[in-house]
Parts: sequence; structure tokens; C-alpha cells
Amino acid sequence: MFLHACCGPCASEVAPYFAQQGHKITLFYFNPNIQPLAEFEKRRQGLMFFAQEKNFPLLISKDYKPLDFLEKTLPIKENRCSYCYALRLEKTGRKAKELGFQSFSTTLLVSPYQEYEKIREIGSQIAQKLDLEFLAPDLSHLYRQTIENAQKLNLYRQNYCGCLISEFARFRDLERGELE
Ligand code: SF4
Repeated sequence: MFLHACCGPCASEVAPYFAQQGHKITLFYFNPNIQPLAEFEKRRQGLMFFAQEKNFPLLISKDYKPLDFLEKTLPIKENRCSYCYALRLEKTGRKAKELGFQSFSTTLLVSPYQEYEKIREIGSQIAQKLDLEFLAPDLSHLYRQTIENAQKLNLYRQNYCGCLISEFARFRDLERGELE
């Protein structure tokens, strides 16, 4: 199973969860929404460390265009996150297909801060189009454990979702996606 991963802590619960279900996991880091570059690198390094420690194969996409992402998302006033989910899941689904996987999923499913229903809906539509399966259990009950795993493994753990808009909103105490 091809598993899109946003960071080490989220992967630390989701990858073992699917492995326990009998899936053979390959992790995939494709996150042009994570900005700035220094933050992108911290999350990437954390994921690399986790993958190496726990012996999960990991592919890292070289396709990182944060300015394109901002250009596309800034004009979107509502449902910005849907665009972000679709971008990442479409790429994951296409790569899964190219590599011969039958199914794909994402570590975003573990975060109570993400919009579970939208992720499930968008992933399922992409899967249908590509004739793949999108696995989308609600894993938010595992979220607390990701925090403990991060402490135990000394994994970098972020304090905002990813894009510069979310960073601004987080530290200015705004709702996610709200700028005005
Ligand atoms: S808030 Fe998070 S999910 Fe929404 S667009 Fe920004 S990075 Fe993507």
C-alpha cells in the first residue's frame, strides 16, 4: 500500500496501523503545502528518521513548488484545504498506479485538525478514477499516541498545519483559512 506521509509523528502511528492490517507499506513524502523550505526540511528529516528506524521504505518527491501552491491557493477564499488534499492525494494516487500498488492512503487521517470527510471523499474520487482503492479509516483516536511517539523517538513535531496561511492563522489566533 502506498501511504502519503506528511511528517514523522503522524506516520509513526498510521504506518504501523496499516502494517498490522497486513499491508506492505511504502511511504511517500509529497507536500508542496509545507512552507517555508526550512519547515519542509524539518518534517522531511523527521519522516526519514522514522522510516529508517522502523524499516519502512520511503519515496521522497522532488516536486516541491511552494510558490505555485501559494499562487493557486491564495485566491481561494473557501475550501482551500480541499485543493491541498486533492493536490497531494492525486499525486499519491498517480504514483501508486505507476508503481503497481493496488491501494493508497494518507497519514492525514490521524489528525483531528484535518477534515476527515473531505479527505475520504476526495481520496475515494481519485481512487475511482485511477481504478485503485483508497483506504480511509478514521484514525483520529490514535492522535494522542503520535505525540508520545514523537517524544519517544525525538521526532520533530510541527505546531501549525503547513502552508504559510495556516502558520499566520495559528500564531494570530485566526480560524484556519481565515485571513480577513
Ligand atoms: S491549512 Fe493545511 S490542509 Fe489547509 S491548505 Fe494549508 S497546509 Fe493545506
